[in-house]
Amino acid sequence: MILPFERIGEIDTDAYQGGYVVRLYPWQYFEPDGSVSLQVDEHGIEIGTNAFVLYRTHGEFELYPPPVDWTVRGLEKDGEAVTRWGNGVTDTGEYVLRISPIGTEQPKHFEGPPQGIFAPEYADPDTNFLCQVVLAWLTVHTYGSPYTTAQARHLELILEAEGLAEFDVYDARGVLRHGLTACPLCLRVIRHEQLHELVRFEEGSGLVNAAVQVEGATRSTDANLFHLVPLVYGALEHAPHSVAWGHATCNTRLGQRRCYSLAELQQMDLKLGIVREDRIETIGWISTDFQMIRSPFGAVWIQLSSDMSEAEMQGAPPPPVLAPDDELEVPVAEAEDGVPVDADEVHIGEIGDAP
Ligand SMILES: [Zn+2]
Repeated sequence: MILPFERIGEIDTDAYQGGYVVRLYPWQYFEPDGSVSLQVDEHGIEIGTNAFVLYRTHGEFELYPPPVDWTVRGLEKDGEAVTRWGNGVTDTGEYVLRISPIGTEQPKHFEGPPQGIFAPEYADPDTNFLCQVVLAWLTVHTYGSPYTTAQARHLELILEAEGLAEFDVYDARGVLRHGLTACPLCLRVIRHEQLHELVRFEEGSGLVNAAVQVEGATRSTDANLFHLVPLVYGALEHAPHSVAWGHATCNTRLGQRRCYSLAELQQMDLKLGIVREDRIETIGWISTDFQMIRSPFGAVWIQLSSDMSEAEMQGAPPPPVLAPDDELEVPVAEAEDGVPVDADEVHIGEIGDAP
């Protein structure tokens, strides 16, 4: 599991069984004169042991070149280089290159294997297993599924034993509708083949140009793993009660927001309406944090941008934002600790073999 250096204070590292590796940018590890930054020592970080340095631009590489005794990260078993994680495989090396060509004439330069999954995606093995069981059960209940409910009896027994078999609660959460698996955002029923078809971003208003941005960069399926509660640092949210199958486009639109269900919004009891001359036309319910509005018929509105601060209203610049480092991640289908991303990861027959 990867822990970004700048998040180290927010995270209770004891919660992560199976260990972690700290990712540092060169400017976090090195001082401008090439010496090692003092704050690295403070956190007990040892490059090559429990940490690595990530280079993302040609500029960084020139400004903070790796010391001569450093090598690119790799995997090793019994003294020989291997390409995949497994029993007895250890990490070697000190740095990873994910240098993109954007903004330069210089070529893309990627070296070093994926380093794991990021902390917000982490869950302990038992929780992971239960997430897989929920997802497998939901796969069986997609529209046009080749599986029968009789084949899913073992899944139901596990869910019953864990108090996860109250399926009307799944309905209230929006992950199930009339007994069929549904996308928690748009509430539309998920067809089984959508778990396997590659996503096209053609459909849907607001995403007309998205295909250009993701071409060649995504292998996402039409419907994929969907979290009702956003995965964030400092909290373990990959949990059986918050996973679902949802549309990739809906996931993109939702971003890092909580997916409130219609039932939840109705419970918050903030009805929203348009004041017409002679009457109030109600359109739905809004969340108390004003992030989401739902009509009772499936339409959803999301707050895309928050109000500005008083200072920003007067022309002050916004506070800086940290960019995520995507390319480092194991495509989750390969993740060693089994966090599922696509339907292939939750083959019904394999569930019995899991821990
Ligand atoms: Zn959807």
